[in-house]
Amino acid sequence: MDSTEEDLIRPIYKNGRYQNPFDTWMDTPGIRNLIKIIVDEDHSGIPSQKELGKTLPVETPDFQKLRNPSTSEMQIMWIGHASVLVQMDGLTILADPVFSDRCSPVQFAGPKRYRPPPCKVEDIPHIDAVVISHTHYDHLDYGTVQNLNSKFNDKITWFVAAGTKEWMLNAGCKNVVELSWWDEAEMPGRPDFKFVSVPCQHRCERTLLDSMKALWCSWVVQGPQHSFYFAGDTGYCTAFKQIGRKYGPFDFAAIPIGAYFPRWFMRPMHVDPEEAVKIFEDVRAKNAMGIHWGTFRMTKEFYLEPRTKLGEELDKKNISRDKFFTLRHGLVHTIGHSLPHDPA
Ligand code: ZN
Ligand code: ZN
Repeated sequence: MDSTEEDLIRPIYKNGRYQNPFDTWMDTPGIRNLIKIIVDEDHSGIPSQKELGKTLPVETPDFQKLRNPSTSEMQIMWIGHASVLVQMDGLTILADPVFSDRCSPVQFAGPKRYRPPPCKVEDIPHIDAVVISHTHYDHLDYGTVQNLNSKFNDKITWFVAAGTKEWMLNAGCKNVVELSWWDEAEMPGRPDFKFVSVPCQHRCERTLLDSMKALWCSWVVQGPQHSFYFAGDTGYCTAFKQIGRKYGPFDFAAIPIGAYFPRWFMRPMHVDPEEAVKIFEDVRAKNAMGIHWGTFRMTKEFYLEPRTKLGEELDKKNISRDKFFTLRHGLVHTIGHSLPHDPA
């Protein structure tokens, strides 16, 4: 079917709250499930910092490269978890930046980092745009937003999903563009760049009272020469094939691979590596990086399992491990160039 003819997937909006329109969605777990998840066995096995230095080394970014990105190739850096920096066609874009020690409403409790950020916000030479996928604390961090505003102030344009603009303005952001699924916006001052909010299957809340009041999304960024797809945080659903038909192929995609165990609980919200590879195929990514793993103590799969399983899934489908890779924290990588491989 031609993408111009098909009905685009829209979120359901009822009584001030959004809902997922997908058959693959399962609603909020009850209290019995919440107790079950707390007592469920933890397989994360996060070792000492010394061991982590070998299995998940954090590199100091090459700031010279960040200051002088290639004009003909895409340059990327994994900051950790879902935070990614992308430089394409003369624009520097940050996705879901979190530099804090904990992704939580408070810094004395909540999921803690076991791998540090590779640098401080203040060390980043330049940012033009930030995309935010949704309001969960591991994707939208008040301290990081404040630090970005103190360093870059009105130089940043923030792209957020419907229902998030007010929070951003309250946090001191000057230029905020709020979009619902399939809405497109130009980058101010760069009309050759298009930012599009596109669907994914997830949820949204920061407090006990604001559940589903803001929308969640993934992002398409189309520049004059390159394109980037940021999947954000998502379960597997039918949206990705539609995104691929309408905006694919993508030169680079960031796709979540972690925080999926136990499956019975996480499946509607978080893909596993097998489903991540399906997203890679559905959106027609030429290159992809696995995100949403290896940084915060969040779920109960073995901490290196997302990387191992990603490799196995790619082998099963005869897709090169260099096409859908993981990166070291802080490594500044040019898409298409060779990669260092860490032990799986
Ligand atoms: Zn989330
Ligand atoms: Zn998340």
